[in-house]
Amino acid sequence: MFLIPVSAFADNYLWLLHDGKRALVVDPGDAAPVLQALQDAHLQLESILVTHHHADHTGGIDALRRATGAQVYGPATETIPKPFKALREGEILHTLGLVFQVLDVPGHTAGHIAFYTPEMDGAPLLFCGDTLFSGGCGRLFEGSPAQMLSSLDKLAALPGATRVCCAHEYTLGNLRFARAVEPDNKDLAAFELDCLELRRQGKPTLPSSIGKEVLINPFLRTRQAGIMAAVHRFDASTHDDTTVFAALRQWKNQFK
Ligand code: ZN
Ligand code: FE
Repeated sequence: MFLIPVSAFADNYLWLLHDGKRALVVDPGDAAPVLQALQDAHLQLESILVTHHHADHTGGIDALRRATGAQVYGPATETIPKPFKALREGEILHTLGLVFQVLDVPGHTAGHIAFYTPEMDGAPLLFCGDTLFSGGCGRLFEGSPAQMLSSLDKLAALPGATRVCCAHEYTLGNLRFARAVEPDNKDLAAFELDCLELRRQGKPTLPSSIGKEVLINPFLRTRQAGIMAAVHRFDASTHDDTTVFAALRQWKNQFK
């Protein structure tokens, strides 16, 4: 299988997965770069997977459906361009010979879902939209900190080898904040050097992996004593998992 981050807008990745003949795309905010990629590799688009309703993830759905006849799959409780097959946690989606499980991961939006397959070319694979970013997480537009924390806990519990396909190239900015939170994290420092080199070469920092993220992503590490202490210095009212997570997210929102 081939896994390709198709660039769109300033920093979106529209993930294209194909077997040389058939393809799926995740969160096509724009149809044009996807149609170009399909044409270049002579691919038939079979499925369009959608994680949440934001325009930068849905803007190309109608044009792609019209051009290719692809089946659209999306979150049951969000409004995305119809017709689509509505999915919620526990449901399974078969495409390209793969089996994807649907996970509910509310927080960035209220009905956000993720797509996880335990096996694609020997390792698991996750499409997580704007829930988890490398070194960070999505902003809480519709969900509560408790919801987002539980969504991220769910993703952090996936196997370490899971490749994580995030929808934006936000990694370097996220890591600069992560370093302010955890200045002594050696895994984080090493990962930042790797990512700086990738970006210098014009390459994506993604996919990441769950194993890497649990070592470097402060939003998956809010129960680490060092992070709890750093967040407490930012907001002395923090006293449990949820308040630490909420304050960390607030700190990131105002970080310059
Ligand atoms: Zn979004
Ligand atoms: Fe987005």
